Amino acid sequence: MSTDVLQHLGLRALVPALPGLLKEARSEQLSYEAFLYRALLIEAECRQVRTVARRSRAAHLPPRKSFDDFDFSFQPGLSERLVRELAGLSFLHTATNVVLLGPPGVGKTHLATAFAWAALEAGHAVLFASLATLVEDLEAAQRRGTLKTRLRAYTRPALLVIDEIGYARLSARQAQVLFQLVNARYEQGSTILTSNKTFAEWGPLRGDEILATAILDRLVHHAEVLSIAGQSYRLKDRLAYLQPTTDGA
Ligand code: ADP
Ligand code: MG
Repeated sequence: MSTDVLQHLGLRALVPALPGLLKEARSEQLSYEAFLYRALLIEAECRQVRTVARRSRAAHLPPRKSFDDFDFSFQPGLSERLVRELAGLSFLHTATNVVLLGPPGVGKTHLATAFAWAALEAGHAVLFASLATLVEDLEAAQRRGTLKTRLRAYTRPALLVIDEIGYARLSARQAQVLFQLVNARYEQGSTILTSNKTFAEWGPLRGDEILATAILDRLVHHAEVLSIAGQSYRLKDRLAYLQPTTDGA
């Protein structure tokens, strides 16, 4: 059978699948109805995969992480129950924020990424950025006179992840655009933040006390704060290797 018509209709997944499907249909003596359904299902599933891939690229998501591949036993101080509850995503409906705090390597970005993927796969609009990228982007937009449009791109998604709020200080202008963003999202959409510093130590907010308070105020007013105080997962195997054995061996 010519596959031209399939190509023409944009049924891209069916083109390579058809020979196998026809063989299957003959050997299983499928009804016309069952055959058509199976064929369309292949196309539909493939489209779904492509759609998620396209949306995840547009959202700048890091490679997929899940809650199931997070080893909660390695971070006993972190409530698995609370994380699983948040994974149900009801926090998105109340525009509640999630703040992940802890030293490097404890899984903050892993969990933020897992939330972002879960939200995306549930059909929500998501955007993922490091703080540095975000403020640079907004500052550049301000220079070009397109800040308003750019701010809208960061305000519209139901979930914005701002990763890596560390030591680096923001310039007064960067802090100002961050405030505009946080203010625009306040009670409108959820933001997930990760930081290896406590709120008081947030470098980006140092310098202008009033602005810092205004930003923090809005971020933590409706927020779940997850503190991960444990050891770095990146170093876990190496630490075990470096630790002296107790039996003197
Ligand atoms: P952070 O953002 O806190 O610095 P990451 O989330 O980048 O740390 O974690 C570092 C690496 O270790 C990642 O590959 C992550 O998937 C993995 N990781 C961290 N914590 C865990 C954990 N508890 N279970 C499984 N993998 C983990
Ligand atoms: Mg990180």
